[in-house]
Amino acid sequence: MELPYAEPYKIKVVEPLYRSTREEREKWIREARYNLFNLRSEQVFIDLLTDSGTGAMSHYQWSEVMLGDESYAGSSSFFKLKATVEELLGMPYFLPTHQGRAAENVLFSALIKSGDIVPGNSHFDTTKGHIEYRKARAVDCTIDEASNTAESHPFKGNIDLEKLEDVFKKHPREKIPMCIITVTCNTSGGQPVSMENIREVSALCKKYGIMPLFDAARFAENAYFIKIREKGYENANIREIVKEMFSYVDGATMSSKKDAIVNIGGFVALRDKEIFDKASVFNIMYEGYLTYGGLAGRDLGAMAQGLKEGTDFHYLESRIGQVAYLGELLQNYNVPIQVPTGGHAVFVDAKKFLPNVPKEEYQAQTLAIELYLEGGVRGVEIGTLLADRCPKTRENRYPRLELLRLAIPRRTYTNNHMEYVATSLANIWQRREKINRGLRIVSEKPIMRHFTVELEKIK
Ligand SMILES: *Cc1c(COP(=O)(O)O)cnc(C)c1O
Repeated sequence: MELPYAEPYKIKVVEPLYRSTREEREKWIREARYNLFNLRSEQVFIDLLTDSGTGAMSHYQWSEVMLGDESYAGSSSFFKLKATVEELLGMPYFLPTHQGRAAENVLFSALIKSGDIVPGNSHFDTTKGHIEYRKARAVDCTIDEASNTAESHPFKGNIDLEKLEDVFKKHPREKIPMCIITVTCNTSGGQPVSMENIREVSALCKKYGIMPLFDAARFAENAYFIKIREKGYENANIREIVKEMFSYVDGATMSSKKDAIVNIGGFVALRDKEIFDKASVFNIMYEGYLTYGGLAGRDLGAMAQGLKEGTDFHYLESRIGQVAYLGELLQNYNVPIQVPTGGHAVFVDAKKFLPNVPKEEYQAQTLAIELYLEGGVRGVEIGTLLADRCPKTRENRYPRLELLRLAIPRRTYTNNHMEYVATSLANIWQRREKINRGLRIVSEKPIMRHFTVELEKIK
């Protein structure tokens, strides 16, 4: 028999979890105004809100915390990280930032101006926020297959080259400062982009004189999918694939809270010195001096080590294997999910799960609340609340997909936890016909409302 994947690590430290009662959860979620971000972590049993900064560091990473050099300038931890970024990604210029959105803020301050157009594949919410905040516009060019949760496609994160070329033809070059390829594509379901697509997008960008960039938060998971799904890469190792991926872009913003398996951190990586010099000024203003960028030396060291561990095949196999395992359990219960499962999360199709709840009453958020009440499991809405209002008309934007995302933190939960989550959802699935009312907004902020929105149950 072929041996199954198994975690290439064992557990040294544990963090006890409290199992609450349904009565407690009903009280807590009411107090949290039906916004799962407002819960205290002790009120959550299994926390699948995000895989961002929630992973478990290895003992090598913790030892880097002790080795951290806290010098203001020229810290050895900085040089360790810089060397790792150059070695793994092949990018000679590098700016540390306190997290991914800070990297966006720094780089976009240097590159994006009012009226610009930024095409890409389903830009991440903070990325879109940073684009729209500068009065520029993000244009989604993801392939149509991505919005059909039931259609199996190995690379649902791919960019539609025709859509992209349309954007390039419609707008003058000076209005398009970059094209952002998000690997893996979070918003469309943690779906990977193929090497072929990266290569073709890059070639098209070059043809029109536009800079291709990665939003690289989950670049290693993307590389894993290329290895197991794309012809010609079966025998390549993850680091070779990563090198090739980055060879097609001129730079990247990175949230290290994802594939670098640290609790905080990010960076900008660049090939071009001129852009680096421009961005450096903003890094100093917003983040900190160039050799620490809003982080402690110990964070830089842990990040360097995490980048190495995050690009290890056996680690990625168990990581993505666990996500797939949760997906299989849910499919066995007939729960509708996005297939194939993505790299970091399982996405439940809330439109299919709760067809009796009108879209104006936030189907995915309603399902997220039900799941919390059922089992103390916290997922997150990727739907109308997240899609926010149109900046011009202030109307709700109804996205094609209403998803409940169950993001799996790295190296944190066991497969027993996955079984608990699947059973909780299966219980709701059994009584789904009876759920026909959702939620109504009581108050919201003008931008990125999902973090702070207050809701009430419609009786
Ligand atoms: C998390 C994430 C970001 C933002 O990073 P933060 O570290 O949360 O600020 C940007 N893009 C993608 C694809 C992400 O997943």
